[in-house]
Amino acid sequence: MQVTFERVSLKYGNTPILRDISFSLEPGTRLALVGSSGAGKSSLARLLMRAADPSSGAIYINGVAYPKYQLQSVLRHIGVVLQKTEMISGTVRENITFGIHPEDLLGVNDKEIWEVLDAISPSFQRRFGERGLDTLVGKQGMQLSGGEQQRLCVARALLKKPEMLIIDEATASLDSETEQIVQNGIDVALAHDISALVVAHRFSTLRNCNKFVVLKRLVDCGEDESQVEIICDSAAAAYDQSPTFRNLANLQGFRP
Ligand code: ADP
Repeated sequence: MQVTFERVSLKYGNTPILRDISFSLEPGTRLALVGSSGAGKSSLARLLMRAADPSSGAIYINGVAYPKYQLQSVLRHIGVVLQKTEMISGTVRENITFGIHPEDLLGVNDKEIWEVLDAISPSFQRRFGERGLDTLVGKQGMQLSGGEQQRLCVARALLKKPEMLIIDEATASLDSETEQIVQNGIDVALAHDISALVVAHRFSTLRNCNKFVVLKRLVDCGEDESQVEIICDSAAAAYDQSPTFRNLANLQGFRP
């Protein structure tokens, strides 16, 4: 899946959120969006999921203006891992296949589901025990930790065999051990040879990425200036050339 943002701006009501964003995401590229908190990274990811539409500019998917596509036909090929996990009250199997188009589930069996789960975390076998994928989770069943929910969401996104992944990692409320486990899940997802747009709140995720788009906060931009500070192919280049990237990296003790 090829994605192009062409001079995209976004407002919520009268409030400008994103200004003049242009970049392209080629098939197989794992693109990290980097920027301070509030710069608009999550909002940009939401544009790609059509949770909002640009106030100006255009988004193209495989060369076609996004609004011309049937939303569902695009979303069917996008796997999404968001900060806020969406779990339903039901079995593990129901949760992991939730939201996947029925045609895409034809031929998907428990063996395949376990392969995806095991790759993300071998501990699921032990955790779900004898009932396995029939284990009830949520209100009426086993309570899953935030980290476990995140990992099930990574599994759900991968089971879909998407052409592109959108990952908006959790920013807070994970202890460092859980964060590491979730990170492993994201590593597994990004090791697949598919396009990805990653909202990188933590620099540890950047090692999986091969394109970097750094956004300045709007308040730090001149009147009509684009928020895009730099687009480059390596974290080292971003560190050298982008003050925003360097400041954030230094804060997190990250050295490319
Ligand atoms: P980031 O992901 O870089 O931290 P966000 O995209 O979450 O940034 O937020 C960008 C800006 O948009 C922030 O100022 C935030 O307060 C604002 N914002 C986010 N969601 C909404 C919304 N639903 N309505 C109004 N403003 C919002």
